[in-house]
Amino acid sequence: MTASDPHYSAPRPRGSSLAGKAYWAMVQRVTVIAGAIDVGYIFLFAWLGASTLAWINVLSVLLYAAAYGLIGRKQNTLALLLIWFEVMAHAAIGSLLIGWDSGFHYFLLLFIPAIVVANSRGFSAPIVLGLLLYYLGLKAVCDQWGPLTPLPGAELRTVFWVHVCLVFAMSASIAAFYRRAILSAERSLVEQAQTDALTGLRNRTGFQSQASEALARSQALGESVAVLLGDVDHFKQFNDRHGHEAGDRVLIHVARTLQTHARGGDLLARWGGEEFLLLMPGCTQAQAEAAAERIRQAVVGTQIPIDGAEVPLSLSLGVACLGPEESLQSGISRADRALYDSKHAGRNRVTLALPLAVPA
Ligand code: GH3
Ligand code: MG
Ligand code: MG
Repeated sequence: MTASDPHYSAPRPRGSSLAGKAYWAMVQRVTVIAGAIDVGYIFLFAWLGASTLAWINVLSVLLYAAAYGLIGRKQNTLALLLIWFEVMAHAAIGSLLIGWDSGFHYFLLLFIPAIVVANSRGFSAPIVLGLLLYYLGLKAVCDQWGPLTPLPGAELRTVFWVHVCLVFAMSASIAAFYRRAILSAERSLVEQAQTDALTGLRNRTGFQSQASEALARSQALGESVAVLLGDVDHFKQFNDRHGHEAGDRVLIHVARTLQTHARGGDLLARWGGEEFLLLMPGCTQAQAEAAAERIRQAVVGTQIPIDGAEVPLSLSLGVACLGPEESLQSGISRADRALYDSKHAGRNRVTLALPLAVPA
């Protein structure tokens, strides 16, 4: 058996490509919002009698539509260049025509977080510096030659207010996007840290983060809780004879078998190399023993096709039912000793743990 086997499912790293997709989806949404805002500007400037600016906004809408289409066709760099060109040219022409006080230049500041966050190659400082030089250069040019087509005071104030409100709203939504991206990356990291990459089950950390709470809840309700520890028999030989990849496939198979036998509130984990742990809240000793026996039979009943032959497989189990105030640690230790007894008694069997010793 090899990794090319259609039944073999190797674990895949998660996260980075999603962040990329989410980023470009956000940029595409920005082109729609910016295009819609520029449609509003066409009417605003036509109403204020600034026809040149109204026509410039018609051009801007077309540029945003083109950028939207380019992102749809995965030509992201070209789309980004178009957006940069639109904002820089728009800010420059607007500031020159009706003056620095119009606030057109504030839109340039919206690039700063995008440059820093999206630039993974460490070029953000020179690009931000370049933007600063452009910003200051534009200010100097406007002071020297502007405004070329001044607006009356009241109209200029209207344009200024509109610009300030828009820049505030856009800054807030950009910050909200980055916050969501950080929270989602954090969630994904926590999930990865608590998940076994091979079987997709919880690992020890994931189990422990949920088990104490589940146990406390059951003990508070006076429910009995069972712990079931299973270990694949002669797994080392399996690896040695058929290879590590075949061993991995067995682990995935045992994990799926346990998953199908676990009930809704149970907590299943890969406890170690070829050891699995099942915490069964609200489960009596008799029910846990029966469940362990069903799992044992399900595992022993499957013949795994490896290297063209059907290879037998078995699981030894230890079952402990926790005392009313017993700790999880103590319950797992008793299940572990019971598992050890199963191994010693010949493997492929279920052993009940000795009852918790009552202090004299
Ligand atoms: P026993 O019946 O007494 O449990 O014998 P065993 O061979 O199953 O137990 P032992 O502890 O001697 O060997 C466990 C083996 O599990 C050794 C280790 O290389 C292997 N193992 C641990 N983790 C993995 C894994 O993720 N993939 C594979 N393929 N093997 C693993
Ligand atoms: Mg083993
Ligand atoms: Mg073992």
